Amino acid sequence: MRILILGAGITGITAAYTLASRGHEVEVVEQEPSAAMQTTFSNGGQLSYSHAQPWANPAVFKKVFGWMLRDDAPLVLRPKADLAMIRWMMHFLLQCQPARADENCERMLRIALYSRKKMHEIVAQTNIEFDYRQQGILHIFSDQKSLDGAIKHAKFQEKLGCHEQILSRQECLAKEPSLQQAHKQIIGGIYSDSDESGDAHLFTQRLAQYCEQHLGVRFSYGVTVNKLHGSKQRITSIATSQGEMRADAYVLALGSYSTLLAKQIDIHLPIYPMKGYSITLPAWKDAPEVSITDDEKKVVFSRLGERVRAAGTAEFAGYNTAIRPVRIEQIFSSFRDLFPHVPTNGADEWACIRPQTPDGPPLVGRTPCANLYLHTGHGTLGWTHGAGTAYLLADIIDQRATEIRLAGYELSRYRKAG
Ligand SMILES: Cc1cc2nc3c(=O)[nH]c(=O)nc-3n(C[C@H](O)[C@H](O)[C@H](O)COP(=O)(O)OP(=O)(O)OC[C@H]3O[C@@H](n4cnc5c(N)ncnc54)[C@H](O)[C@@H]3O)c2cc1C
Repeated sequence: MRILILGAGITGITAAYTLASRGHEVEVVEQEPSAAMQTTFSNGGQLSYSHAQPWANPAVFKKVFGWMLRDDAPLVLRPKADLAMIRWMMHFLLQCQPARADENCERMLRIALYSRKKMHEIVAQTNIEFDYRQQGILHIFSDQKSLDGAIKHAKFQEKLGCHEQILSRQECLAKEPSLQQAHKQIIGGIYSDSDESGDAHLFTQRLAQYCEQHLGVRFSYGVTVNKLHGSKQRITSIATSQGEMRADAYVLALGSYSTLLAKQIDIHLPIYPMKGYSITLPAWKDAPEVSITDDEKKVVFSRLGERVRAAGTAEFAGYNTAIRPVRIEQIFSSFRDLFPHVPTNGADEWACIRPQTPDGPPLVGRTPCANLYLHTGHGTLGWTHGAGTAYLLADIIDQRATEIRLAGYELSRYRKAG
């Protein structure tokens, strides 16, 4: 089958890899001059398979109204006359109910554990190097209530097959000695030794090169997709900045922009852009070996070869990707809390929008349009889930049984979407 993949972020390229490996004729269309130049470019680097708690959960529900207009909150909402945002927010708040949050957590964990297995297979098959570290992720906590909540959640995940270790303050400092310098109060932590980290940009670029050199995938870079031609039942072609393109099937992997294209054929994707920030510094002597998550600030820290990346925060501000000084300062201040002795001048600063679904899990597979497939909506965990969802997608397109249960990933989970 000839398949056009729209978008060359982590989701577009992992899809190109799985589909071309199955013998399909694959072409990737991307507006940027190379792969992974948008949301996949400078993310937190965590392959946090064990972090399956969706943003929509009862604890966030209690805090969200207080956070709403505070510029230093982990999640900031700028309510405006944007119907899509209001609809998304209503849906998000409904998903904060305990039973919904538990169900969504199970879905996030199911795809995450599968993704870990598939990521290992891709790495073994391609030998790609991407500053990969398999030293686990340590979540640190600074107040007892949050730690107690996280321990309760870890026990819930344990029942679903995810094992994490609960650590005392001393054990946290022993696990990651660079934290001994921290000004921040650390009262304990949760550590998962099967979590990993790596540079998503490097991985995606190198996997794209691998696909081109070994699997015959064609890349049309610098080409913008402007329109889906056809109807809600079937796409006949796409209009691009370089003319019409045709295929038997089309995969939408445009991150937050997937919504705008799907809307043209009356398919409504419940994805809203959620902006985040990162800073990247050169690694210093004694830089962290283990990837860290500061639970209070929702900021993650990953060592990527000779660099250290700090990333996080969530801001609902539409499609605007400009760096707001007051928001990126939250990342700098979280960094200084943990590593007060490390100068941050000269850090690379970055902001981008995550394609976020209200319930958390991504959108994979079929749509009401027979030859349009989704590989999008990966939100805060696209780097972590992108390998697993690409295999699900290939199984769906090939009409094979999926290796894990598909329930909870397709668009059909939203009653009114299509
Ligand atoms: C601050 C931050 C930190 C994060 N940290 C982590 C983390 O630690 N771990 C983790 O798992 N995830 C993390 N994420 C999330 C992860 O980065 C995303 O889920 C993932 O990159 C999304 O990939 P994507 O392929 O859907 O989107 P993208 O990477 O944005 O790819 C979409 C592509 O489509 C192209 N495109 C869009 N419109 C058009 C068009 N009309 N025509 C042609 N091309 C088009 C874009 O140029 C882009 O290349 C983080 C995200 C942010 C912002």
